[in-house]
Amino acid sequence: MAVFDRPLENVFSWSFSRHNTFRECPRKYWFQYYGSWGGWDHDAPAEARELYALKNLTNLHCLAGDVVHRALERALHAHARGETPEPEEVVAWCKGEMQRSFKESLEETPWRDQPKRATRLFEHHYPTGFGGGGGGSTGGPTKDFLVRIARKIGLSVRNFFTSSSFAMIRETDTDEWLPMETLDSFNFEGTKVYAVPDFAVRHRAEVLILDWKTGRPNPKNRDQVVLYTLFAAAKWDVDPETVQAAPIYLLEGGDFDPKPVTVSDRERVSDLIRSSIVGMKEVLSDADGAAPNTASKEDCKPSPGRVCRSCNFRAVCPHAR
Ligand code: SF4
Repeated sequence: MAVFDRPLENVFSWSFSRHNTFRECPRKYWFQYYGSWGGWDHDAPAEARELYALKNLTNLHCLAGDVVHRALERALHAHARGETPEPEEVVAWCKGEMQRSFKESLEETPWRDQPKRATRLFEHHYPTGFGGGGGGSTGGPTKDFLVRIARKIGLSVRNFFTSSSFAMIRETDTDEWLPMETLDSFNFEGTKVYAVPDFAVRHRAEVLILDWKTGRPNPKNRDQVVLYTLFAAAKWDVDPETVQAAPIYLLEGGDFDPKPVTVSDRERVSDLIRSSIVGMKEVLSDADGAAPNTASKEDCKPSPGRVCRSCNFRAVCPHAR
């Protein structure tokens, strides 16, 4: 069989988002990582098709974050080419992307045809207000909510251009930039672990890793930064003591303020990954057999609660609250 004819294999892997989904609700985890598998194929069973489509719903906060990330990536590439990106042009580009996606989301058909490519917003799919932004008088997001999202995007982009983190990036040698926004992974004790730092560069004797955030500061992001340090050490073969990594809170000014990642930080996050992997593997049906990454829906128990309000799968879950 030619390489391209082989069906894709659902290989077990670990990431923070997978870990968080498993902790929130194992049934949601099953929908996301097992039930939806293969649903991109038009000939797949109806359940897999539906779950794959639902998995690809986004929401306005996530869409705004994605648009800002893509805008900053474009701006950095422009800087690397010797151009000087204008903040207001970047804000206008973001506005155009948001409008295009919003319009696309109003119709269900494009997303049904191409769930991964076309935008469908949670706020349009569940217009009665479950996600916090829905509930407008005609269904879907309220005008106030849309204004808040637009302000957040504008502030994030403008702060980036005046931030000390951008000033620092401009001092670095663009030849020393490490791959940006590439879904990447490293081998952690035999398991593929995903990590996607937004920006990394070798600078003097250090590796600097920056991760843009369009939300408010959250202490949980600390573990993600430690993961990036593990990733850098494994991927780029650098001494973890030379890695300076930090979340960049764009709404708070976007400054780079790394805290030292200690040996005990790295051990704590390594322990977290290990115990999380053990928990996830407990729901596998045939971990040591011919289909090592299969799980049954029944073994992934629903954990209904507040998490249901923003769960993409609430349309198909009889336990949704
Ligand atoms: S609707 Fe609630 S119970 Fe059902 S999968 Fe989602 S989070 Fe779990």
